[in-house]
Amino acid sequence: MRKYVIMGVQGSGKGTQSQLLCEAFDMVHISVGDMFRWHVQNHTKLGAQVKRTMAAGELVGDDEVESVVRGRLEQHDWNYGFVIDGFPRNARQAEFFMESFDIDAVIHLEIPDDEVRRRVLSRRLCPNCGMDYNLIADRPEVDGRCDICGHELITRADDTPEALDARLRDYHEQTTPVLELFARKEHVYHVDAGPPAKEVHATIRKLIGLPM
Ligand SMILES: [Zn+2]
Repeated sequence: MRKYVIMGVQGSGKGTQSQLLCEAFDMVHISVGDMFRWHVQNHTKLGAQVKRTMAAGELVGDDEVESVVRGRLEQHDWNYGFVIDGFPRNARQAEFFMESFDIDAVIHLEIPDDEVRRRVLSRRLCPNCGMDYNLIADRPEVDGRCDICGHELITRADDTPEALDARLRDYHEQTTPVLELFARKEHVYHVDAGPPAKEVHATIRKLIGLPM
């Protein structure tokens, strides 16, 4: 059984890399962001709490994050292992996590802040059908129009340069101590997240010793 932690800022391709690894090795992708979205969509008690927190522009609290992760890991449906993303968020959670689980490796996707800005600020969304676009990698056929339904594309409300800079600051503040703590006890692999997703995936497999 393999257990990996994947870390990387928004726009680093963390979700894509987690999925590629999980598909190749039958592991379970445990994404804290996806779990919260599920709770919001399914109107659970936790979902209501999360929605209020996010509406106030705040980060979901550590207690909520921990209880969601603990609940998910207790389901024990990860016979071949898991890749967890969005956890741990701070040194305390990292300590708890390392004590409870024998982590095989920590994968840190590295990408300069300027590249994150370029990627994130080029995202567009169709408010009608929910289709995602990216003006760099995934342009619509007609400028500013959805390929599927023809509706005008919009920018997400929180994809402004100011909001993104605040998220980047928070990310670095939270992540640096976690990476330092992991580096003392676990294998931390720093991976350049700049190249196309397939290349990054191949690099990760080589580094953590998984066959191609
Ligand atoms: Zn559309």
